[in-house]
Amino acid sequence: MEPPLDRSTTWPFVDGEPGPFHYARNAHPVGVEAERRLGELEGGHALLFSSGMAAATAAVLALLEPRKTVALAEGIYYGTGVLLGELERWGLRHVLFDQTGLPPDGADLVWLEAPSNPFLTMPDLEAAAAHRGLVLCDATAATPVHLRALERGADLVLHSATKYLAGHHDALLGALVVKDPAHAARLHEFRTRTGAVAAPDAAWLLLRGLETLEVRVRRQSETAAELVRRLAADRRVENLRYPGFGGLVSFDVAEPRAVEAATRVIVNATSLGGVVSTMESRHRWEGDRVPRGLLRLSIGLEPVDTLWNDLEQALAVA
Ligand code: PLP
Repeated sequence: MEPPLDRSTTWPFVDGEPGPFHYARNAHPVGVEAERRLGELEGGHALLFSSGMAAATAAVLALLEPRKTVALAEGIYYGTGVLLGELERWGLRHVLFDQTGLPPDGADLVWLEAPSNPFLTMPDLEAAAAHRGLVLCDATAATPVHLRALERGADLVLHSATKYLAGHHDALLGALVVKDPAHAARLHEFRTRTGAVAAPDAAWLLLRGLETLEVRVRRQSETAAELVRRLAADRRVENLRYPGFGGLVSFDVAEPRAVEAATRVIVNATSLGGVVSTMESRHRWEGDRVPRGLLRLSIGLEPVDTLWNDLEQALAVA
């Protein structure tokens, strides 16, 4: 059962002193419970943030310093590179590298994504773990159902919990899960100071989402595997990308805008990882960093034949 949704921002002192919950920017009961459960799933100390990007910002600003270098995997979530570009003004450097190989020597933090969104490559976690820098793995698309990156040598796992973890398109949230208690303490301090905390309502929706995470993700993976099999046999589809697990697929078509607009069940919308399938052309956001024809499909919980019929008729219309 979920704990009651306590929306308090302040709690009475205990015997004249602040108790464990005294002001909600520091900690609140539902957030702490959601962190406990996510920490168990990933095998580390979890901290919630107001969004995935707030978690990403906290990771680099709290744990690095000006003139430090982030080695950023190529082809990962577009917004992460944009964020690091923004932070260049504050003296943080970044270089791109191919995450299927060795990270560059001089980097202070190696930033991986498992699998990368939307190219769906998997990082070489062993190569990154052997690097001298901190290793962060954005495991938004893998989820702890398919990958526990802390056990594979990562120091930090990042989630846009907006996606699979909450899973219902109704909560904006981010999370960092770390191995080292000193990192957890530093990130907590930084989060309290900067105020990028998750609201109790969103944390409660995350708790409810986590109850069904495994069944949702396993079903989405099964549906994805079958759709990939059918898409692979379709001559209108090129460069089909699928890492072998999870609910994200991408592929290229001649007329992506026509195909995305023609679906009737699959919603033409951004974001991913929810119970409803979504598909969009990524070129509209990312420009020539991605092929013009690339469509990213996030598979929800609809029956596989319903999704296949929808894709077929959309490909035919286009
Ligand atoms: N990481 C990945 C892999 C994402 O796909 C996203 C959002 O699309 C983010 C991080 C950013 O998360 P949020 O939108 O919750 O800030």
